[in-house]
This record gives sequence, C-alpha cells and structure tokens, in this order.
Amino acid sequence: MDLRDLPSVDRLLADETLAAAPRAFALDAARGALARARETIAAGGDPGDIAGAARAELHRLERPSLRRVLNATGVIVHTNLGRAPLAPTALARVAEVGAGYANLELDLDTGARGSRQDHVAAALGRLTGAEAALVVNNNAAAVLLAVAALAEGREVVVSRGELVEIGDGFRIPEVLARSGARMVEVGTTNRTRAADYERAIGPNTAAILRVHQSNYRIVGFTEAVSTRELARIASRAGVPLVDDLGSGSIFDLGDEPTAAASVADGADLVCFSGDKLLGGPRRGSWSAGPTSSSGFAATRSSALCAPTS
Ligand SMILES: *Cc1c(COP(=O)(O)O)cnc(C)c1O
Repeated sequence: MDLRDLPSVDRLLADETLAAAPRAFALDAARGALARARETIAAGGDPGDIAGAARAELHRLERPSLRRVLNATGVIVHTNLGRAPLAPTALARVAEVGAGYANLELDLDTGARGSRQDHVAAALGRLTGAEAALVVNNNAAAVLLAVAALAEGREVVVSRGELVEIGDGFRIPEVLARSGARMVEVGTTNRTRAADYERAIGPNTAAILRVHQSNYRIVGFTEAVSTRELARIASRAGVPLVDDLGSGSIFDLGDEPTAAASVADGADLVCFSGDKLLGGPRRGSWSAGPTSSSGFAATRSSALCAPTS
C-alpha cells in the first residue's frame, strides 16, 4: 500500500461504528489509526485493515479507565486500590436514590432550602458524641480547612514526632504552610512531654494539633502526651485541640483510636478519613468536638461549610 491509497479521515468517520460514536472520540480514533498506518508504510510494511484499526482505537478510547480489580496485596484498606469497598446496603441506597431526584438540599418538612450536610451531621454526631459534624472532600481537606479556619496567620503547636507524611504528598508541615498557619514544633522525634507544649504556647498560639502517626511507628525510648492531657493543656490556654485521627475508627477495633474516644477525651475538633475504616466512598469527614463553648464548634463548622458548599 502507498501513502496515496490511505483513506481520508472523513471516509473513516463514515464507518458505521465510528459514525455512531461521539465525534471527538471518532476523530481521535481515525487520526490515530491513520498516523500508525503512515508509520507502517514508511517502514515498508502493510497497514492492513485501517477501518478495523480505527474501530479498535475507538474501543480503547471509550473503555472506562476505572474498573474492578482483584486486591492480592494483603492490604485490606489499600490507598491505591480504592480503599474500602462499599457495603451492599450502601450500594443499594446509591442505586435507589441516585436513580431519581432526591432531597439533597431540600428540607422536606418546611419546603425550604436545606443543606447537604443535614443528611449525615446528626448520625455522625450520634456516633462520635460530637456537637456538630461536617463532611468535606477528604480528610486531607478537613485538616487543611480546620487549620486554615482556626489558625491562619497564627501559630499551631505540633509535636516533632507527628510531622508525618501519609502518602500522596500529604505532609503535615506542608499542609500547615498552605493553611497560612505558622508551625511551632515541640519535643523531639521520639519524646514529647506536656511541658514542651506548655512552653511553646504564647499569645500567638491559635491551636494545638495532634496527628496520628498512621503508617509508621517509633518504638523504644518514646514518650507522647495523651489526648486527655493535651486537651487539658489546650483548654487552660484557651485554644482548641485539633485531633487528626487518620483512619479514625467509628467502632472500637482495639488498635485504632475511635472518634468517640477522642471527643470524650476532650479534643475540640476531630478529623478522620471517610473511606478508610469508615468504609465510605472515596472522601473524608470530620466532626467537631463537644467543647462547651458550644458556639465554638458550631461557629467553626459553619465557617468551614462555606468553602465546600
Ligand atoms: C490518611 C490520613 C490523612 C488523609 O486522609 P484522606 O482521607 O486520604 O485525605 C490525614 N491524616 C492522617 C493521619 C491520615 O492517616
């Protein structure tokens, strides 16, 4: 075959399969098949059935990139494999509600506009003991929004043993920098004491941040301050304690901190992932704690509502 014998793009587009496809896809498929045919001819080969090649290319372009895979890694909640599978009951609800219209932002009792947060806030509050709760895109966003709302232009005190990188570039020092807060590191990699926090707190302190080490452990000569003790220090200083729990189990699995325990221990804002142990769709959630300066949790959560709604 000679270059002059190649069909035109328009003739390929007239192919029944290509003609039925969205034009942008058909065009790319036709052009791709012709480009490869030209290369084959230039190399002295026979390009064969060009319309067939264009149909195969179209099939490749239209194939969804997201698909089911088998997880043979041994890691149950695997970040690269979509983390937690959805429960059958959740999937059934998605199919049922998603198939039609829904009261996503409508209060059915009053007929007035509602908030999409209303559907989960009460349940999350009940499950965690928090006064208010808010769901945002993921836990990384929850931590960033929380710190930005509470501490922009001011200081956040955090232990050197908790300056972690979780994966996919989520690094606590960078999250704090992006939030506009100044990070004040206390303690050492392996040992941080209550006195370290107390010494670091000053007039510019806006919050204490505690971060679950999640995917690594320091063992041996170590010391850390409990949530309860940290909450006391924060409360004496009149600043909130933000607790990033990472996976943040709802039910007690023994090994992972539960959101309810953190709230009960006195954390003012508890952030945790929605698609790790909670088993929800890829996203994160956070709940606001039970601080009795109740305006605080409520005010802060509605302040955080704004950028997400
Ligand atoms: C996983 C994790 C995050 C980020 O949560 P995403 O839901 O992936 O955004 C933040 N902090 C800690 C401690 C984590 O383990």
